[in-house]
This record gives sequence, structure tokens and C-alpha cells, in this order.
Amino acid sequence: MRQSVEFRILKQLIKLLKSLETLVIIPLYEMEEKEMKNKSHMKWAWAIMIAFLTLGIFDFRFGVLGFACMGAPMYHALRGRGKVHCAKYCPRGSLLGRLLENVSMQNKLPKFMTKKNFKHGLLAVMLIVFSISMYHAGWNFYKIAFSMFRFMTMSLAIGIIMGIVFKPRSWCTVCPMGTGTGLIQKQVGNKDIFSGLGSSQPKQPQPNHVVQLTKKPSDKKAA
Ligand code: SF4
Repeated sequence: MRQSVEFRILKQLIKLLKSLETLVIIPLYEMEEKEMKNKSHMKWAWAIMIAFLTLGIFDFRFGVLGFACMGAPMYHALRGRGKVHCAKYCPRGSLLGRLLENVSMQNKLPKFMTKKNFKHGLLAVMLIVFSISMYHAGWNFYKIAFSMFRFMTMSLAIGIIMGIVFKPRSWCTVCPMGTGTGLIQKQVGNKDIFSGLGSSQPKQPQPNHVVQLTKKPSDKKAA
């Protein structure tokens, strides 16, 4: 008799959990997925880059936050979201688009810079330079953070110069992180490699290009 009462309680609990899943967890998950598809944060994401630079100047140790900036595009690509980071979240892309919107000379990027070999070469150079600087930093937290901060500010400076001479987000055409993300996307496709070893539902393909922030027709050709 006692066993049967426990069994009934257990059954009720399972039912309750199932209802919770149907009523709360699944809708929340669907909402998050929908939000991921539709929402762009590019209007304000530049503020993150400004905050990063300000904090980094105040104390170089904040430079470690740069790992998040470098890791985010790859994380999204590994989750089968393609270049969603470039299109909707990237603080650097947002800053370049907003900051240079009115000062850019709007010139066309030289053709050689748009070639695959150039982009892959730049990615290789970035990886080598980054590895060497990390090697020299050893396990020293301060040096690692400083190297990362220097790396981030230098690439932003190059991005700003390119954005002034060419179109605002010209950097995005050659950006090593964008190139690396594209390579991951080619391998992973729209599969989420973190979800149960390939048991996930295939996701909608993400747009494979950056979102232009300016509305000028000429700027649409930028990246
Ligand atoms: S290409 Fe690079 S800078 Fe441009 S949006 Fe993507 S990660 Fe950001």
C-alpha cells in the first residue's frame, strides 16, 4: 500500500515536470531561438568596445576580456549559427560602422584585399603573432592581459584607418576573426556541435555576411 502511494506521487511528479517542460521550458527555448534570429544589437554594441578600451586604459588586466571578443564569433559558428556574431553582435563591427559613418572616404577596397589568399594569409599572420606574444607572456596574467589589449587596440586602429580610407566596415572584409569564423562555418554548417553529439535539430542557415550599419547605397558594397 505504501509503495503504491509513493509510486503515485512519483507519477504525479513526472506529469508535473512534463507540464512544466511544455508550458515553460519549451516556450522559453523557442523565444530565445526566435530572438537570436531576429534581434540585432549592432545599434549599441559599439558601447562594449568603448567600455573595453576605457577599462583597459585604466587597468591593462581588463585586456583579458578580449578573449571573449575573439571567442564569441567562433562560439556562434560552432553552434551552427554561422556569422551571426558579425551580423548582429560584434562590438568592433558596430563601432566601425557607427564611428566612421560620416568620416569615411567611401573608397573601394583594393581587389587583392578581397581575395581568399590575402584573407587566409592575414589570418595566418595573426595566429603566428598572437602565439608568439602569448608565448612571451608565459603564465603571467598581467602580461597575457596586456598582450591581448595591445592586440585588440592595434587591430581596431587598423580597422579605423581602413574605415576612413575605404568604407566604414572595410576591416570586416579582411578581419581574421571573420575569416576564421567563415572557415569554421564551412566545416560545421548549421549543426550545433555542443548539443548532444549531433542529435540536435538542424537550424535555419544564418546570413553569411555582415550587416551594414549605414543606409547609404554606396556603403552596401563595403564588405
Ligand atoms: S568581421 Fe571581424 S570585426 Fe567584422 S563583424 Fe566580424 S568579427 Fe567583427
